[in-house]
Amino acid sequence: ASAVEIASAALDRIETADGTINAFTHLNRELTLAAAADVDRRRSAGETLGPLAGVPVAVKDVLCTHDMPTTCSSKMLHNFHPPYDSGVVEKLRAADAVIVGKTNMDEFAMGASTENSAFGVTKNPWDTTRIPGGSSGGAAACVAASMVPISLGTDTGGSIRQPAAMCGVTGLKPTYGRVSRYGLIAFASSLDQVGPIGWSVQDIAPLMETIAGHDKRDSTSLNLDVGSYVDAIKGTDLTGIKIGMLRESMEAEGVDPTIKEAVKEAAKVFEKAGAELIDINLPHSEYWVPTYYVIAPSEASSNLSRYDGAHYGHRAADIETGAELGPLVTTYCRSRDEGFGAEVKRRIMLGTYALSEGYADDYYNKALKVRRLIKSDFDAAFSQVDLLLGPVTPTAAFPLGSKVDDPIQMYLCDLFTTGANLAGIPALSLPAGKDADGLPIAIQLQAPALEESRLLFAGSVFQ
Ligand code: GLN
Repeated sequence: ASAVEIASAALDRIETADGTINAFTHLNRELTLAAAADVDRRRSAGETLGPLAGVPVAVKDVLCTHDMPTTCSSKMLHNFHPPYDSGVVEKLRAADAVIVGKTNMDEFAMGASTENSAFGVTKNPWDTTRIPGGSSGGAAACVAASMVPISLGTDTGGSIRQPAAMCGVTGLKPTYGRVSRYGLIAFASSLDQVGPIGWSVQDIAPLMETIAGHDKRDSTSLNLDVGSYVDAIKGTDLTGIKIGMLRESMEAEGVDPTIKEAVKEAAKVFEKAGAELIDINLPHSEYWVPTYYVIAPSEASSNLSRYDGAHYGHRAADIETGAELGPLVTTYCRSRDEGFGAEVKRRIMLGTYALSEGYADDYYNKALKVRRLIKSDFDAAFSQVDLLLGPVTPTAAFPLGSKVDDPIQMYLCDLFTTGANLAGIPALSLPAGKDADGLPIAIQLQAPALEESRLLFAGSVFQ
C-alpha cells in the first residue's frame, strides 16, 4: 500500500474509534496526508527513504511539534504552539515517519490513569469503563485500539510502562540520557525519559533505534554510539543469561495474584529458552515510592515555576480584586490558579515544601541520599544477574473514577516502576496475557544502564 493509503486508513480508524477512546488531543488530517504524499512522491522518484518511511506515529502531547499544538493536556498550555520540533520528533521526521497527531495524557505527565487531563479521560480499549493507565494513556490506547502501530510516550516514574501494561501493548523506558529530551516539556528533569510504545518488541525496536542517540541541545544526553536494536532482537537462545526474580515485588501486598502468577509463568518461559533464574533482593525497594514522591514533585515545582501568566500559556484576565498585592502577583496567582489542575497544584505544594529552607534536609536532601541507596541495590543486583524480572503494575486496569479522590492509592500504582527511574536504568513492559476479566496483564524486565539491546532481545524471545 502507498503511504497515503496507510495514513488514510489510520485517520479513518481514529475518526471512528476515538469518539469513545479519546486517545488524541490533536489530529490533523491535511498535514498527515501531505506528509504521506511526500513519502510516496519521493519513493516514486527513486529516493532512498528512512527506516520508518510512511509509518503512522502518534506523539504524546508533552513533546514539542512546530506544526501542531503542544498542551501537556493542561489548560495552562491550551494555546501553546511551539515554534520548533523536539529532538525525537525531528528524528521521526528524518526517518520519514508520518506523525498523525498528539496523544492525551495526565496533565504535565502527573498521574497514573490519564484522568488528570484537562481534555477528558482516555478510555481503555479493552474495557471502556476502565482507565488506560497513565500518564501516557493516549499513546498506549491508540496502539491498543489499532489506530497507529507505534507511538512515543514519556516515563518519569512509570508512565510508559503502566499504560502499556494496562492496554496490552509493549513499552520501553530507556536509560536516562539515551534519548534526547530537547523539546520535551519538563516534569522531573532527573527522571524524565522519552520512549517507544508499540504492539510488540519487533515494532518498538526500529522506533527505539530511530530516537536513540546524542543531542547536543540536551545537556543530559549521552554522547555514546547506539547499536542496532533491530539486529539485537534476532535469535531465540538465552543460554548464559542470568535473570533475577525480584523477591520484594513478588512478596508485596496488594498485588493481584494473577499478575504474580504471570511473572512466574514468564520465568519458566525464560528458563526454557536457556536462562538461569536467581532470587534477587533489592533491600530498599519499599522506599522507591516515598523517595520518588519527594524528588519528582520537588523538581516539578521548580520546572513549573516558568508558567507565570506572562511568558507562557494561560494568562488570567485583568482583574481589580487583589490589587493590594500588586498587578504582577495577581496575574501570577490567578493564571496559575486557573491554568493548573488539582494534581499539578498538589505536586507544586509538596515540592515547594520539600525544598523550602528548614525542611530541605529532612525531605529533599534525605530523598537524594535514599536514591543513592536504591541505585546501589540495583548495582549489586546487576553484579549477579543480567536482567531483573517482576511485575509492572500491582493490578490490571481499574474502573474509571475509582482512585481519583485518593492520591495515595494512585501513587501506589508506581510501586514497581519508580525504581528504574530513580536508578536511571532501562525497563521494558511486556504483555503477558489476560486476567479472568479479559484485561491485559504484563511483566517487567529491567537491565543495567545502556543495555536496551539485552532487554529487547530477551523481550523478543518471550514474545
Ligand atoms: N505516576 C507517576 C506520577 O504521577 C509517574 C508519572 C510519569 O511517569 N510521568 O508521578
